[in-house]
Amino acid sequence: MTEVYQGSCLCAAVRYELLDEPKAVSHCHCSQCRKGHGAAFASYGSVPYSAFSLLSCAEDLKAYRSSESVLREFCRHCGSTLFWKCSQGEAVGWICVALGTLDTPFKPSKQKHIYTGDSAIWFEAPQE
Ligand SMILES: [Zn+2]
Ligand SMILES: [Zn+2]
Repeated sequence: MTEVYQGSCLCAAVRYELLDEPKAVSHCHCSQCRKGHGAAFASYGSVPYSAFSLLSCAEDLKAYRSSESVLREFCRHCGSTLFWKCSQGEAVGWICVALGTLDTPFKPSKQKHIYTGDSAIWFEAPQE
């Protein structure tokens, strides 16, 4: 049986389930993700639409189109950044989920940092 991953926003109005393990786990340092999260970087994993289900009302989500092909969704009550979808390129048909909203423990087999050239200058990578 495949594991089901559950997640929710800060106020728990938005709840969702992933029927597949998040793929392509990445920590994005681009300026849009930094702004969207108010953080040094945004951590996302993706699943196909078919493996995603929203357990709460669609009305609890608000969407912002950050570029022509990218739609970012967040909780209209607490502002948690939750998902983004791209209508162009290889991510079509996939939903990218903000991993910080997962409630089910998940340890990806691999992960990467992307757009590190755009990192905030105040960000210092943790020393191992
Ligand atoms: Zn919320
Ligand atoms: Zn980004």
